[in-house]
Amino acid sequence: MAQTPAWFPGKAEAAIDDEADTLEVLALQAGRSLVLETSITCPACGFRREETMPETGELHFYTCSGCGKVLKPIYGDCCVYCSYATVVCPNEQRRELEEAGQSIRRHVGELRETLKREREE
Ligand SMILES: [Zn+2]
Ligand SMILES: [Zn+2]
Repeated sequence: MAQTPAWFPGKAEAAIDDEADTLEVLALQAGRSLVLETSITCPACGFRREETMPETGELHFYTCSGCGKVLKPIYGDCCVYCSYATVVCPNEQRRELEEAGQSIRRHVGELRETLKREREE
């Protein structure tokens, strides 16, 4: 990108564009490196076990290796990972990232509007 002098009116806008690009790239990178290592704690006996989540999957049943209890998702949660693990499932992680991306774009849109108004006044 061409260097813009400090006094140039478009500079603030260019800075916002740069920031938005950076944030979007970060969100995309995070999406590519989903957290798959987690540990599930049994609510019945407290037994904790390290698990690796499948990148595409949710888990609807999980048998505790401590007490043998079959865990099911808490009502309203999408899966066992979301209910009992230290990290939400990859599907949920993707959804959160998507939402973060959308709010970044919304935020950038609002900043642009504010700049435009300030310049017109
Ligand atoms: Zn248990
Ligand atoms: Zn889930």
